[in-house]
Amino acid sequence: MRILIVEDDAALGSSTARGLELEGFVVDWRQDGPTAEAALVSQRFDAIVLDLGLPGTSGEELLRNWRNAGNVTPVLVLTARGFVLDRVRVLNLGADDYLIKPFDLLELSARLRALNRRQSGQNNLSLEFGSLLLSHSEHIAVFNGTRVDLTKREHRILETFLRNRDRVLSRRQLEDALYGWGEVVESNAIEVHIHNLRRKLSRTLIQTVRGAGYRLNQDNVT
Ligand code: CA
Repeated sequence: MRILIVEDDAALGSSTARGLELEGFVVDWRQDGPTAEAALVSQRFDAIVLDLGLPGTSGEELLRNWRNAGNVTPVLVLTARGFVLDRVRVLNLGADDYLIKPFDLLELSARLRALNRRQSGQNNLSLEFGSLLLSHSEHIAVFNGTRVDLTKREHRILETFLRNRDRVLSRRQLEDALYGWGEVVESNAIEVHIHNLRRKLSRTLIQTVRGAGYRLNQDNVT
């Protein structure tokens, strides 16, 4: 899925872009209206994440322009807490969804996927890797035909591996996938989750790559 992020806040924009990339999205991040417009002219996006408070042209104006011009790309609006009227107004203007800042990256990516499913009419409810099946909607995996209950964060880590199945993921990348922007991360959190996933599923499913991180064991595919 190709996503356009329009967010002027550099820290929030870059962390959101990085996080979504790790989720397997292809991300284009723009910091103001004119460059966002230019991106939309030159490329097709599956969804747009739109901040309302932008310098120059506001997010609301951008949304109004796009809809008036017949652009139907799904738009998820980012709004500040408490601005109920803003949210009502942007939904009326043709936004498809909204999230209140500060938001959770997990929730943003889940909602973007939901928007995409709605748009394309597909209903792909699980991810597969060999004999491993991971549900999108519940924190459940099925491994070799046996149901395994996962915590939210174990589910998240496993999903990140399944979306990056050929890549080595560093601890930092996994932390970015797991935690929202600005959240405090305990230093051994990833190791603990991986230990638990190995215990629940298979000792050899996730391999340690010395000095680099972790990756899915391709031998587990068959
Ligand atoms: Ca802003």
